[in-house]
Amino acid sequence: MSISDLRGDVLRHLKYSIGKDEDHAQIYDWRVALSLAVRDRIVDRWFAATRATYASRAKRVYYLSMEFLIGRLLEDAATNLGLLDEAKAVFDGFGLPFDRVLADEPDAALGNGGLGRLAACFMESLATLGVPAYGYGIRYEHGLFRQRFEGGRQIEEPEDWLTQAHVWEFERPETSFEIGFGGHVHRTGTSRGIWRPAEAVIAQGFDTPVVGWQGRWANTLRLWGAQPTRLLDLERFNAGDYTAAAQPETLARTISRVLYPDDTTEGGKALRLKQEYFFTAASLRDILRRFESEYDDLRKLPQKVAIQLNDTHPAIAGPELVRLLHDERGLPFDEAMETARLCLNYTNHTLLPEALESWSEGLMGYLLPRHLQIIEAIDAAHHKAYPARSVHIREHGQVQMGNLSFIMAKRVNGVSALHTELMKTTVFQDLHALHPERIVNETNGVTPRRWLLGCNPRLGALITEVLGDGWVGDAEELARLAPFTEDASFLERFAAIKRANKEELAGWLKREQGVAVDPSAMFDIQIKRIHEYKRQHLNILEAIALWQDISDNPNGDWTPRVKIFGGKAAPGYWFAKEIVHLINAVAGRINADPATSRFLRVVFAPNYNVSMAERLIPAADLSEQISTAGKEASGTGNMKFAMNGALTIGTLDGANVEIRDHVGAENFFLFGMTAEEVVARREVPGHARQAIEADPRLARALGALRDGTFSPGNPGLFAGIADNVEHHDYFLVASDFTDYWRASREADAICRDGARWTRMAARNTAGSGWFSSDRTIRGYMADIWDVTPAAAPGTLAAE
Ligand SMILES: *Cc1c(COP(=O)(O)O)cnc(C)c1O
Repeated sequence: MSISDLRGDVLRHLKYSIGKDEDHAQIYDWRVALSLAVRDRIVDRWFAATRATYASRAKRVYYLSMEFLIGRLLEDAATNLGLLDEAKAVFDGFGLPFDRVLADEPDAALGNGGLGRLAACFMESLATLGVPAYGYGIRYEHGLFRQRFEGGRQIEEPEDWLTQAHVWEFERPETSFEIGFGGHVHRTGTSRGIWRPAEAVIAQGFDTPVVGWQGRWANTLRLWGAQPTRLLDLERFNAGDYTAAAQPETLARTISRVLYPDDTTEGGKALRLKQEYFFTAASLRDILRRFESEYDDLRKLPQKVAIQLNDTHPAIAGPELVRLLHDERGLPFDEAMETARLCLNYTNHTLLPEALESWSEGLMGYLLPRHLQIIEAIDAAHHKAYPARSVHIREHGQVQMGNLSFIMAKRVNGVSALHTELMKTTVFQDLHALHPERIVNETNGVTPRRWLLGCNPRLGALITEVLGDGWVGDAEELARLAPFTEDASFLERFAAIKRANKEELAGWLKREQGVAVDPSAMFDIQIKRIHEYKRQHLNILEAIALWQDISDNPNGDWTPRVKIFGGKAAPGYWFAKEIVHLINAVAGRINADPATSRFLRVVFAPNYNVSMAERLIPAADLSEQISTAGKEASGTGNMKFAMNGALTIGTLDGANVEIRDHVGAENFFLFGMTAEEVVARREVPGHARQAIEADPRLARALGALRDGTFSPGNPGLFAGIADNVEHHDYFLVASDFTDYWRASREADAICRDGARWTRMAARNTAGSGWFSSDRTIRGYMADIWDVTPAAAPGTLAAE
């Protein structure tokens, strides 16, 4: 595809799709025109992939996820199609700033954090590997809220990515299903029931093609939007009651209106349960429709369909699939249950008790009366088959969605080696004893196309220069960088790239946040959702202690550091919002101190999202992965940093354990208690007080939270955080502080030896290939889905 073809297509779309001429087109118009020209180049491959799947009668994978945190799509698609350089040349020719055109695209923020980003990386890897797959989720009108700060406090504003045309999607009015809620069940005298819902909405499909590396294959992300079954109550309209007349529409659309801004505490929200059932039911109907267009024996379903439930949010898939097979299609109940189970698999993402979903039987019986009956029947059937231990889906009037997902799954997977072992001994101990073959591990991964080649083009080019470009499609080739980590000239170039990335970030911070930082300082970055278990408060306490030490000795030989934070707190999570406020207050105080500012700065960049991650991670020296051991199921931010040559300071938690194994323990700043030690430490009475008494530095930092240092005129403002650490400290900030300080000073010392640091950084990149989501997806294919890549069109077939 030549540059002049692309240029012609951009101009054609500008004129005929957007209706603008070159002289009046805005950046937005150019961006949409380019996106459409790129999208055109996906469509043929997309059709070819669909045809190849039908022709080979291949098994399909269906990934059901409440969240897809996809971010921007234009650069990703252009990269995978090998069009990025051509597109840049075209825009250089127009005299237009290509970077601004790319950055004009709003982030599709249809997710909260790691769970949603994982789903997006998986979609890209599935397409790269040529696996016939569909992603199914919700087309939220408003994704995750936009964050800004006012007086240091977080303010949430609605996110509005859909106010501009979403150029990547194809609306599918013909792909619609009516989804019911409430009502009652008519018993037939057999085990089958006939559900007569009281209300209904329409789920309508919107398809976005997802293209893999080198355009080998393309899959579909199908997001459901809610529509009313009846647009307008005409009788009321004619009677002049316009508000009431529009009510059916308003109510229906509410279901796909907003993303819940919290993936850890669900509460008893009826709307949330409706959202979960809405997209799960629509997806299952679509899956069965496709299956039945090709096959007529429903018992073959597990041979042709593998469904992955991303956490328990789509857990209602179990009873819904049983209902579709038994009530609606007449399979005997036991057969329906076993057929459904052999299609379904469940990924657990958290062991935090407050994050395990449950719904009251009252609510479920009201919204989904037939499903509650089926859950009772599943519970009874499971108990009858396994009477040895009593494990119930329904406990204390609640439906436990984790147990339901487990019992109705062929495979259940954890997302890191440590997390999978902890699943077996904690939440799912009893179920694991009954079904010892069911739990498997699939350590998370991230796509190297977006998280190395795309976000760090300088490093990508260097790696390609020394290895060839095979690493992009097979990240384990990065291991071949190992010999170069001994090569002075390679390391010099590696260091120069990091420096250039840091200068670029410093320019952005100055422009966007008005903060000046020195690119020669260590860039120490913690970006992720704000949560007590992730311990941003441990990090900021270390910053305070460091500032106090520097203040005592401002002419000391300190290693200059810039601490950068990014992350959103759930709007209803009081303590997390206090932490946000504190970080901003500390940043304000420290950055205004002329005595220490050569050595320490603190920056909190508002509105962390995928695009910000892509900007920050390539510029990081130090990656903060400091969760309380046993609490972070995997983490994926940790992997992105390692790929981009940042050194991790971290605990033995989640995938940190495996990252340390792969990059080498000598290239990782380990600190803190192990998961076992954490459990034991919590039993020690007064553990936090003891730790504070043993470390005067910690005591002094906490003192500064109580004496108004960061809240002049209102000394009590941050005392609550100090009290929490001193008296409650479930997440053991105090007990891990001293060792964290030690590890951080070790990082300081090594940082002063630039060559040594760079060698360690390069070894992180060289050891990070295993953390490609391609490796993760291959694991799911072999251990869970039992699928192979379809005979693929284009280059895949030629290989
Ligand atoms: C990768 C990513 C996450 C997950 O980060 P963790 O550090 O693993 O919690 C969250 N949000 C965004 C925008 C990401 O890109």
